[in-house]
Amino acid sequence: MRKIPLINLTSQYTKIKTEIQAAINNVLESANFILGSEVASFEREFADFCDVKYCCGVSSGTDALFLALKAIGVGQGNLVITVPNTFIATTEAITRAGGKPVFVDVNPKTYLIDPEQLEAKVKELRAKGDLLKAVIAVHLYGQPCDMNAINTIAGKYELKVIEDAAQAHGAEYEGRKVGGFGAAACFSFYPGKNLGACGDAGAVTTNDPEAARVIARLANHGRDGKYIHLVEGYNCRLDTLQAAVLRVKLRYLEEWTEKRIENAKYYSERLVKQPSISIPSVSEKVRHVFHLYVIRVKNRNELRNHLRKAGISTGIHYFPPLHLQPAYRYLGYKSGDLPVTEGLSHEILSLPMDAELTRTQMNYICNVLEAYIH
Ligand SMILES: *Cc1c(COP(=O)(O)O)cnc(C)c1O
Repeated sequence: MRKIPLINLTSQYTKIKTEIQAAINNVLESANFILGSEVASFEREFADFCDVKYCCGVSSGTDALFLALKAIGVGQGNLVITVPNTFIATTEAITRAGGKPVFVDVNPKTYLIDPEQLEAKVKELRAKGDLLKAVIAVHLYGQPCDMNAINTIAGKYELKVIEDAAQAHGAEYEGRKVGGFGAAACFSFYPGKNLGACGDAGAVTTNDPEAARVIARLANHGRDGKYIHLVEGYNCRLDTLQAAVLRVKLRYLEEWTEKRIENAKYYSERLVKQPSISIPSVSEKVRHVFHLYVIRVKNRNELRNHLRKAGISTGIHYFPPLHLQPAYRYLGYKSGDLPVTEGLSHEILSLPMDAELTRTQMNYICNVLEAYIH
């Protein structure tokens, strides 16, 4: 068996190579490298894909989060609640906007933000007369958060909701695509994401025309037209070459997503028989798009080494959790503060997952796992 990568971008590229190269060539020949029709078309097509009114292409998922927070008014001293079980980009964006991250623990079944703990934390902060402004709901691994519960809490306490949908392109909650459940939603098109560019890229989606205008303006130097700058902005535009690549790949996204779901189903059917492995728990309200297929096992590190020796790459998403990262020492969290996330962080293991994974490869992976456990 050849080595199995966590994500096989080479295999995907081989299949759509001629289309990707034609799209890139087209931009090169046009010599139109900033914004232009490729970006505008991709924005329209991705908004349609998410069933939202507006999409603003930006330079990365991290910038998408930053611009969305700026657009909803997060600034100096504002608190923004999120989870410690996410990629650091979620909280970097809060800090960059001038705010401060506040962590609440995740649900032990879904590993997503726990609405009960969210409400308790909001009450506690409101009682102190804080500057709490927003909550970032991270649709981690491709599974949407419980958006009804979160939006109810947000409505009650006048909080803005931002979706971090960087891992959840095409995921659904109660039959509706993510991207329109809050004030804005942030997508990443980092190469390894479910929809990936050939470099960094991202987008913000929203149904609010004012938010869409503000974000597009901030991403392009605060411009209104060519020479008038209404505000100081940033250079966070979606690269035109990346937009051209993304337009090609967007046409395959639904097919690839179905393949991911099928692959996850196969893994779960095999691994559910192993009492020492916890398979992903999927809420019946959602369509989980399996950016990652994450199992939970007690002897995670040894198992990971064993798989590596058998040629199988795995990942850990994430360890250490954000509240215990050196970068956030200043926030004052200590070990034991967020026990569900901390417990998870020692036991989670991401198995190879994408649309390219074959039955033969998954069979091999499951065989190696089963043999190790017995
Ligand atoms: C990838 C990712 C981001 C950041 O996206 P980039 O495009 O890499 O900047 C943010 N949040 C989550 C949950 C991610 O997985």
